[in-house]
Amino acid sequence: MSNCELRLEGVGFRYRNGHEAVRGVDLDLGPGIVGLLGPNGAGKSSLMRVLATLARPTSGRVSWCGSDTAREPDRLRAALGYLPQDFGVYEALSAREFLHFLAAVKGLPAKRVAARVDECLAAVGLSDAAERRLGDHSGGMRQRVGIAQALLNDPRLLIVDEPTVGLDPEERLRFRHLLTDLAGQRLIILSTHIVSDVEASATRLAVMAGGHLRFTGTPEHLIARAQGHAYDWTVAPERLAELRQQHHISRSLRSAGGVTLRVVAEAAPSADAVAVAPDLEDAYLWLLKAQGNA
Ligand code: ADP
Repeated sequence: MSNCELRLEGVGFRYRNGHEAVRGVDLDLGPGIVGLLGPNGAGKSSLMRVLATLARPTSGRVSWCGSDTAREPDRLRAALGYLPQDFGVYEALSAREFLHFLAAVKGLPAKRVAARVDECLAAVGLSDAAERRLGDHSGGMRQRVGIAQALLNDPRLLIVDEPTVGLDPEERLRFRHLLTDLAGQRLIILSTHIVSDVEASATRLAVMAGGHLRFTGTPEHLIARAQGHAYDWTVAPERLAELRQQHHISRSLRSAGGVTLRVVAEAAPSADAVAVAPDLEDAYLWLLKAQGNA
């Protein structure tokens, strides 16, 4: 179905205490991996909860395959896999038992359950650990169990909220590869505040800050915007603390001559700073900084 896309029109979400966490978001999303990037408090989780139909938008409209998700949530739910930020597991169960339990909760036909659980365990690389107690799993393995449960119904829409929090670098990398493998014809929305979580995999980015969508487009498009605004500047290590206060620095690397800072700025921060091609991290900082938000 070519019109099976997720469409957000002027979506806003206000909490009961009056706090407006999401404001006027317009977005059309088809198959691929969308990286929803933004600093903590940007409104990502609130938006994800709205998209997963756990909360209704307080303004605007979300539609899936043309049907309004507030009026007909079941159409989206049937196609949805969701890994929330605070995904909890029953520590005493094995991965296989846990997935069997959730398959029952989700109403999968009983005769399909055993095969589907095996498929999902295999998809996330946990076939060999299927009998191990979840309490003995590493953080990365638990997140993979989280993805496995989200895959049970073979979702066309997979929403994963800050999935790499608490994972070590190796687990993080593995998790990113897993999502890339799962993309296919699905729409995967991955929220994170870490640029490197999405730079290799996202075909599209949506950047949020302060409840607003600040950018949507390809990573290349975001990088192009920062062209001419990234500089490498090698300084004496003693100056680092002071310069951090004055400049927007996306990284710093020890080098033979001192510390090399990557600075994003309107113009060169110093005569000895060298203009360089920005990467996604620089471009993200430039976007948020340029609009006075970093
Ligand atoms: P993110 O996922 O980008 O970190 P959130 O969606 O969690 O952002 O939060 C967006 C804003 O909404 C923040 O200012 C946060 O404090 C606020 N917020 C989150 N949950 C609630 C709540 N239950 N009630 C009121 N405000 C909330």
